[in-house]
Amino acid sequence: MQTENLLKEIEKLQNQMTQALMELIHIPAIAPENGGEGESKKAEKLDQILKIAGLNKIETWDAEDKRVPSKKRPNLIARYEGETNKETLWIITHLDIVPAGEESLWTVAKPFQPIIKDGKIYGRGSEDNTQSMVSSIFAIKALKNLGIKPTRTVALCFVADEEQGSTYGIQHLIKQQLFKKEDLIIVPDGGNADGSFVEIAEKSSLWFRVHTVGKQTHASRPADGLNAHRVGMQYALALDKTLHENYAAKDEHFDPPESTFEPTKKDKNVDAVNIVPGEDVNYFDCRILPQYSVEEILSKIKELAQEYQQRTGANISIEPVQKTLAPKPTDVNAKIVLMLKQAIKNVRRVEPKVGGIGGGTCAAFFRRINIPAVVWSTQDEMAHQPNEYAKIANLVDDAKIFASLAISPLA
Ligand SMILES: [Zn+2]
Repeated sequence: MQTENLLKEIEKLQNQMTQALMELIHIPAIAPENGGEGESKKAEKLDQILKIAGLNKIETWDAEDKRVPSKKRPNLIARYEGETNKETLWIITHLDIVPAGEESLWTVAKPFQPIIKDGKIYGRGSEDNTQSMVSSIFAIKALKNLGIKPTRTVALCFVADEEQGSTYGIQHLIKQQLFKKEDLIIVPDGGNADGSFVEIAEKSSLWFRVHTVGKQTHASRPADGLNAHRVGMQYALALDKTLHENYAAKDEHFDPPESTFEPTKKDKNVDAVNIVPGEDVNYFDCRILPQYSVEEILSKIKELAQEYQQRTGANISIEPVQKTLAPKPTDVNAKIVLMLKQAIKNVRRVEPKVGGIGGGTCAAFFRRINIPAVVWSTQDEMAHQPNEYAKIANLVDDAKIFASLAISPLA
């Protein structure tokens, strides 16, 4: 009965949730690395929304950052006391967003002027990660409205800097020792369309730069130079094939089940068509199943570079840009996993499945310190895309799951 009332109360809050989400989208929170001012203005708006929702005691855990006008990257925590503090349910969402990208591709709404269309709210950051931020706040508001004290204390945690590695965000908070082994950590920053996917593992990630140096010359006399662009392309294609052939294992817990090796970015080379480039720079993004050693793969990449150097006379150097080793997965029987699966079954009537993804959320930092963490939300995976949207139905339904977790039995 209590649960039924709670779910109904959340449904009544739909309009307020929609409004809060739209207000937050209006304020871009872009990292200084991408030319932005950080999250301070959005954090001020969030502070207002929290107070309206009845969450008055807000802790601030700012990280100093001289690169932004406010000189700080804001991290906020709002707690709602439960029957016990032995375990705290943390719902962790991030304030920062990625830039809009090519504006002309935003055909439905302007990135920071959200609109509602067909039950979806369009705007940059709508799904990643503001939807879950708003759901978590209104899950607590519904409990408060009904005077329900949660079984365990719930802490809503809003962090900065997730898109650029979390140095000023969750890593800063972990250093302050705010989290205990007994805590239950949910990071609603990934998921699938029916809300059945619970992420407990991730892949390692390796980004690297391939720098090829040959000799620049006039395109009419290529024999006088050494075309670095040709060598760079030949090597990239060979490497693409080698990596896919040598590391082809599949693990059905992951989506996609195999490691991915993608040639992605390409730096500009010469200014004119009639110049043979003396230099070529391209990049790979690799997401690697935990069963493989990233170091071993890196040696393989360098070995092949050696081979192409000898064959062509060009110089090829491999420089890692980012390297993150997959932490040990969260135990499938960890309390937060079981609680979440139960809540999904009860509220959603779908069969939850537990697995891994390409990686890179706040959850990884908890797994590294042996605190179980899950990534879960309901979303169409619109993150970082033009015409990003959040479904209003997901906004409401995910709040129901968060509220259910707050009141689920202790044992
Ligand atoms: Zn995100």
